[in-house]
Amino acid sequence: MKIINTVKAMQQEADSLRMAGKRIGLVPTMGALHDGHLSLLTMAKEKSDIVVVSIFVNPTQFGPDEDLDAYPRDFDRDERLLIRAGADIIYYPAVDEMYPTSYHTYVTVDTLTEKLCGASRPGHFRGVTTIVTKLFNAVKPHCAVFGEKDFQQVAVIRRMAVDLNMDVEIITAPIVREKDSLAMSSRNNYLSIEERQDALILYNSLEKARKLIREGMRDVDKISKAIEALILEKDNVSIDYINLIHPGTLEDIQHIEDSVQIVLAVFVGKIRLIDNLRVDL
Ligand code: AMP
Repeated sequence: MKIINTVKAMQQEADSLRMAGKRIGLVPTMGALHDGHLSLLTMAKEKSDIVVVSIFVNPTQFGPDEDLDAYPRDFDRDERLLIRAGADIIYYPAVDEMYPTSYHTYVTVDTLTEKLCGASRPGHFRGVTTIVTKLFNAVKPHCAVFGEKDFQQVAVIRRMAVDLNMDVEIITAPIVREKDSLAMSSRNNYLSIEERQDALILYNSLEKARKLIREGMRDVDKISKAIEALILEKDNVSIDYINLIHPGTLEDIQHIEDSVQIVLAVFVGKIRLIDNLRVDL
């Protein structure tokens, strides 16, 4: 497995792989890897000849009061996991390699980024779309794999790839969960033992909503209120958003007629966690 640190070296490697007829798959990550990330790698291996996993804690997607400095970083551990899982290349650039002091260019997707996580994390998606564009330009992948855990992120990246005519196939992979159903996340590392227990409310409330829908409830207001009440039974938990949206357009739904994506963001203590679940009638 190779480790590549510069844009130029990555582009040269990508050019020679492409000349040799290899299909390149990219898995963008911020490191602190867990089985959710590794499932993306497995999918990328199925869809390509050479898998590049990028590790880059992207400063432009963190707000001023967010956890950029505290974000967990352990390259040696990530490297061991990626060797074992069969990655071919780790692309691991430094911050000033991606954003030299002369840097002034950003990619933005309108509308889709204004709600949900975009509303509570201003500038977050601008950072995401910018870094994903830069990773595409360095790695020159034929396909890139993203997790459905970040449901809005996938929609935004798909929009960007179509709108900017990017020649990259966007592939998604299902959410990987812990045994007790908490969605895996690098941010779970921050949770205390009590908070880790409280965090189960995310999936439990999604399940509750699914149950209500399966039992015939179609009024989104009623469903939202029911799961809101369930979440707020926990003292240390507050709600950022709960929305029932159309899985394709992300538009809010008032009355459920076919498929619905339940998306939520919840603070457990100070830690913001997200999760989502699709229900098809
Ligand atoms: P991150 O390192 O958190 O930026 O995530 C990198 C990629 O891994 C993103 O495409 C995420 O959606 C994906 N990912 C993170 N957690 C999970 C999970 N539990 N299941 C599936 N994919 C995930």
